[in-house]
Amino acid sequence: MAVRSIRIYGDPILREKARPVEETTAALRRLAEDMIDTMIEAEGIGLAAPQVGETVRLYVVNLGAISPELFQDRRGPSLDGDPAHLALVNPRVVKQEGAQTGDEGCLSFPDLFEKVTRPEVVRVEATDLDGRPLEIEGSGLLARVLIHELDHLEGTLFIDYLSKFRLQFLRTRLKKLKASSQAG
Ligand SMILES: [Zn+2]
Repeated sequence: MAVRSIRIYGDPILREKARPVEETTAALRRLAEDMIDTMIEAEGIGLAAPQVGETVRLYVVNLGAISPELFQDRRGPSLDGDPAHLALVNPRVVKQEGAQTGDEGCLSFPDLFEKVTRPEVVRVEATDLDGRPLEIEGSGLLARVLIHELDHLEGTLFIDYLSKFRLQFLRTRLKKLKASSQAG
């Protein structure tokens, strides 16, 4: 278990499309465990593999940080029996309903929070780290996390949902992030 460095906006890996996981290996499990450590240390509620430099279809969610009434449904084993942390392998959205608008952030954009509209309810199917099927459906913040992390696997970032006007307003801050990402 180890904390990995989080890639910051401007790093081209964040724009790559992640490839499917074809085999659940010990290396994949190690990556997921490192991602959980990294997410907790950064006080995040979700983290996708490309954010630590691995372009595979895997993300983790800190379910312990999400209030229980947002869980609509949940089936399948969780990571090593720890219900607080979930690793989703090859996730796909099988249902999205409604709309919610609220503040959203991203560990690859330190200190940036912007209003983003997302579905109110999201259901994701995936497998766990042993290849067993897993389904989770959530509303509110949980729906937002489930779909935000999935976007990372497509190279989509939350700022892509902002208006041109808003992006223009944020131009200097985004430039600074890019510069910090290139510096280190
Ligand atoms: Zn993010």
